[in-house]
Amino acid sequence: METVKIRVQGIVQGVGFRPNVYRIAKKLNINGYVRNLGNLVEVIAQGEDIEKFIESLSHEKPPVSKINSIEHENIECNRIFSDFKILESSLSSSGSSVIPPDLAVCENCLEELMDENNRRYEFPFIACTDCGPRFSVIKSIPYDRDRTTMDEFPLCEECLVEYKNPLDRRYHAEASCCDRCGPSLRLYDGESKPIFDENPIKKSVELLDDGNIMAMKGIGGTHLVCKVTDDVILKLRGRLNRLNQPFAIMSPDLETIKTFAEFDELEERSLKSIESPIVVVKKNKNYSFPDSLAPILHNIGVILPYSPIHHLLFDYTNEPAYVMTSANIPGEPMVIDNEDILSELKGIADYFLLHNRRIVNRCDDSVVRYVDGVLSFIRRSRGYAPEPYDLKKYSNDLNVLALGSELDVTFTILKNGLGFVSQHIGNTNKFRTYRFLQEGIDHLANITSTNNFDLVAVDMHPQFFTGSLGVELSENYGAELVRVQHHHAHGAVLAFDNDVDELVFIGADGVGYGDDKTAWGGEILYCDISSYERLGSLSPQRMPGGDTSTKYPARFLLSILYDVYDNDELRRLFINDYVDFFKYREKEIDMVLKQLERNFNVPITTSAGRILDSISVALGICGRRTYEGEASMKLESVASKSTSNIKIDLEFNKHENRPVLDTSTILKQVIEMKNNGVAIKDVAKAGQNAVAIGLGKMAVDGATMKNVDVIGATGGVFYNEAISNSVKEYVEKRGFRFIRNNNSCAGDGSISLGQAIVSTYRKG
Ligand SMILES: [Zn+2]
Ligand SMILES: [Zn+2]
Ligand SMILES: [Zn+2]
Repeated sequence: METVKIRVQGIVQGVGFRPNVYRIAKKLNINGYVRNLGNLVEVIAQGEDIEKFIESLSHEKPPVSKINSIEHENIECNRIFSDFKILESSLSSSGSSVIPPDLAVCENCLEELMDENNRRYEFPFIACTDCGPRFSVIKSIPYDRDRTTMDEFPLCEECLVEYKNPLDRRYHAEASCCDRCGPSLRLYDGESKPIFDENPIKKSVELLDDGNIMAMKGIGGTHLVCKVTDDVILKLRGRLNRLNQPFAIMSPDLETIKTFAEFDELEERSLKSIESPIVVVKKNKNYSFPDSLAPILHNIGVILPYSPIHHLLFDYTNEPAYVMTSANIPGEPMVIDNEDILSELKGIADYFLLHNRRIVNRCDDSVVRYVDGVLSFIRRSRGYAPEPYDLKKYSNDLNVLALGSELDVTFTILKNGLGFVSQHIGNTNKFRTYRFLQEGIDHLANITSTNNFDLVAVDMHPQFFTGSLGVELSENYGAELVRVQHHHAHGAVLAFDNDVDELVFIGADGVGYGDDKTAWGGEILYCDISSYERLGSLSPQRMPGGDTSTKYPARFLLSILYDVYDNDELRRLFINDYVDFFKYREKEIDMVLKQLERNFNVPITTSAGRILDSISVALGICGRRTYEGEASMKLESVASKSTSNIKIDLEFNKHENRPVLDTSTILKQVIEMKNNGVAIKDVAKAGQNAVAIGLGKMAVDGATMKNVDVIGATGGVFYNEAISNSVKEYVEKRGFRFIRNNNSCAGDGSISLGQAIVSTYRKG
């Protein structure tokens, strides 16, 4: 009898793949078996309809699974199977396994959750093969219950019957449980004293609606939750010392979101998806939440309930939304252990709603925004990580570890041509985040069965912690250390995302270390993946006091204008209009002027992000940065209200043989317009448009010179929809194909992916 061995790779573990194979086999009278090999699913099949069987495997797959490859071969086999079986997982493995991300509660479970007659009625940990935690609870592979944190909750008899029945939705659903055998919730007060209440969720809603701030441990992390009223938001801001950064809100359903925000079909699809990210949508004219929720911004991050706990919360309240923000000390990783939550959030949360299932791998909510109909990841984390990118076109056999940049770090493990980008790690200049990075690497290496690396890729910056960690790890693994320029990594991701091998692109962001040792961030680069060439940039400007200028962008504005104003006139202008934006007022203005005169401690930058910040300061929109991107986000929001077409004249110069866009004359015109009484929103629009068109023009010139017909745009600046669209229009009008990130972060969240691509491609 013909025997066929079928091997399926992809997201095929923990998603009901084997019972699905079982059902198809039964239907087609196929005998043999299916088993998990840790890295893949193997099927041995005998029967008449083998061809149809193989075809059905790829077409009738479970909703959550993803097939990367399906291979089959005839094998010698003396045994005749009389039945089809699902075998236990085998520990032997090679290649890489793909662990599914955490998934939002499914429709079937939701129905049971709300059904009084169901034995899981109102059970906050309801889950099945199609939903629930995966990545955040898995300790090692193959993905089986005893290798997850569910191992502390042995199944009760009833659950075990479901678990063992291949025809049941909970067959081998590793997170399945019920109120007899699963985790449970407990409420604590601010002093960590337990509060005994029959229904801790209902009680929590009462506390929330009374204006208390609660820390709630969920599936892959912990949230701070509160009512969306001014007094409570300000209380939360005060306790977190988070002055202006917008908070995302969770709202019970689309109908409710519609009452305060606009969303189109794509945004709706993302909101409802099993990945369930925060989606940044536009406030509508009926928006009436207090301004303190997302000060000055024209948009707001919203998310639908994704865990059973969230659904139950909204079942008990009439509030249209709750603030839902990652529970962390700013800059540090989210707290996930009960003891840490109680001790570290003491004084921040008034009450705590915790459960006793451990989180192995924290995963912040993902954040997406659509720019002109194209999905832009602001943060790619829960629901997406660690689903890999297929990088086989660059390499099949190199093992690579790429460590990202410094802020907004993710890391990437490339193995067997699959690029596993980690969840959001954060700012690695904080000790705890740095430790989270190290733990994250160990964990992801473990669940992808990666024991060695050929290459370790890091940023070129000599002082990043990720760089020194890279040096250490490359020595430990005997791997070659590869340094990849920041914007080159951005460009490589863009090329991969759009399947091109050569392009000219604009890399516009806050900062990336350049090969001339200055801070780049408004660059025109040619890139063929293995190498790059700098074709143009914004004019180099001096940053008095370096990073201090980032926090207090008025210092930078003063520097930009230093050469285009007479000294006394400049001093007068700043003392009259901008003195409030300097911490030490007049004294500081004079000090900065002296610094500029002496050319002392004034590192050079071509950052576009900093120029947008300066426009924002010049217009009095944002004088001090309290969170990353604040000044330019507010600028975008103010500009979005303008319908004017007033323009700023652009001037281009040469610097070290490359064309540069003169940003000093842009800022000078911004100030003149403002002082001539042009509306702030109109100048804001003209200012950001000038930067966009200036970069667009240099990109077109560069692409023409290089004879390349694709122009791309990447870097955090391109989350700004107006800038992105201006560049697109300018470039397309001149006959070029315009590309941008569409399945990756435009910001630094995908630097590690780019580093992996560049380093492999060079070796490959
Ligand atoms: Zn389910
Ligand atoms: Zn049970
Ligand atoms: Zn960047």
